Amino acid sequence: MKYILVIDQGTTSTRTIIFNEYAEVISMAQKEISQSYPKPGWVYQDANEIWLSVLTTITEALYKKNIDPKNIDVIGITNQRETVVAWDKKTEKPLHEAIVWQSRQTQAFCNELKDSGHESMIKEKTGLIIDPYFSATKMAWLLSHIDNVETYIREKRLAFGTIDSFIIYKLTGQHMTDVSNASRTMLFNIHELKWDSTLLELFQIPIETLPEVKPSSSIFGYTKKHHFFGHEIPIGGVLGDQQAALFGHRAFIKGDIKNTYGTGCFMLMNTGQQVIHSNSGLLTTVAWQIGNQITYALEGSVFIAGSAIQWLRDGLHTIKEAKETDQHATSLESNEDVYFVPAFVGLGTPYWDSEARGAIFGLTRGTNEKHLSRAALESIAYQSYDVIEAMKKDSEIHIQSIHVDGGATNNTFLMQFQADILGLNLVKPDQQESTARGAAFIAGLTMGIYKDLQEIQDIDLPKTSFQPIMTHAQRMVHIKGWEEAVHATRQYKRPSKNGLKE
Ligand code: ADP
Repeated sequence: MKYILVIDQGTTSTRTIIFNEYAEVISMAQKEISQSYPKPGWVYQDANEIWLSVLTTITEALYKKNIDPKNIDVIGITNQRETVVAWDKKTEKPLHEAIVWQSRQTQAFCNELKDSGHESMIKEKTGLIIDPYFSATKMAWLLSHIDNVETYIREKRLAFGTIDSFIIYKLTGQHMTDVSNASRTMLFNIHELKWDSTLLELFQIPIETLPEVKPSSSIFGYTKKHHFFGHEIPIGGVLGDQQAALFGHRAFIKGDIKNTYGTGCFMLMNTGQQVIHSNSGLLTTVAWQIGNQITYALEGSVFIAGSAIQWLRDGLHTIKEAKETDQHATSLESNEDVYFVPAFVGLGTPYWDSEARGAIFGLTRGTNEKHLSRAALESIAYQSYDVIEAMKKDSEIHIQSIHVDGGATNNTFLMQFQADILGLNLVKPDQQESTARGAAFIAGLTMGIYKDLQEIQDIDLPKTSFQPIMTHAQRMVHIKGWEEAVHATRQYKRPSKNGLKE
């Protein structure tokens, strides 16, 4: 039996999952990661804690099922993207807290970049919009906040990297990353597939502080002897978490989409070998590289999805558990024209309206908690519809299928309604480990455990499908209702909103 060990380093936890070659989970261990908030909007993690969580979950996953490390053929890594670690190459010690992707501490710098007219150049080269999410401004910030940084640079000891890169360095001593992670730094030219000299100069990042960029499917070094009792295991595949999920769903064909329904929704569309620049606020990113072949993706997100359900539970107390919304929604014949636009933090793609705030429409004396549940679930589907429509418009690619994962996919009403509103089939794998599975697949591909993508596609993974049953006319009536609700929401603007204008 061949085993693939995957390190899935996410924002809230680190997991190690051991798969067999049939993509079945053999063992798993998980450890929560703490975050700190030194100032409003700033988010830090301790890179040492992250590293420790990697080591402990690896040990626990092996130990739980008594797996001998010599039976691990390859390691795959998937990770929270954009988060930056700076470390000393000599001591391997972090030189600062990791700056988490969510951290807004470089907002002022980003505003300056926009004001000085860099937006279109950056978008052209990187596929990204200027935002504190991406790693470049975080690295620039670190350069002016690490003690004695000039000495580290002069002695060629300063290393920057995203989380994948930090873990690879700790495991192997190699300073490397993959193209999917590099494409989220805002320093990587997604056409030329290399660190961009103009951007390095703009952000004042010395190139020798950055990792070597490798195809997602390649050998990223071998683990040092002491990690696995003398066994030197290859790291054979690395992908950022969203790209890994796309790969794990086997969304290999141009036009395949995956949507993750969690706190927010994260959508990626495989656009094949084509770089498509969006006019609707979608990001262009590298999905993966296998050999010389690059696959690109369009990416969009919905800020408030499952968190609208959390709000019903914790804010309004109309439900005790998220799953109650399923019974609530199905107990009604229709939405009775109640629409909920959960613009708690503004509206993302395609509206990009940061000043919009949430609203509920169509209330009558007969409206109750069931209508609210239904309207909240429907809002998740409508917002996803809006992003997918933007993808269709920007790419002009025929959509093949929608693969889904995330906590809210347990809601059958939501899944059926989503299929209806999109007029497309939804495919939900029964095993909810798409992200880690993607890293297992790509690492397995490198080692020849899988001959090619077709062999991965042929693995029989149980799934549930949701097919649209709503008529086109009904669908249009629903969508029109949503569009009117969004329009009305955006009309409501108060002059002063605390802390909203950044
Ligand atoms: P994340 O990875 O963003 O933390 P998860 O994938 O774990 O999210 O999903 C959790 C989210 O899904 C929560 O916001 C929760 O409200 C929502 N959720 C979980 N189960 C259901 C359900 N049965 N119906 C609707 N929403 C659900």
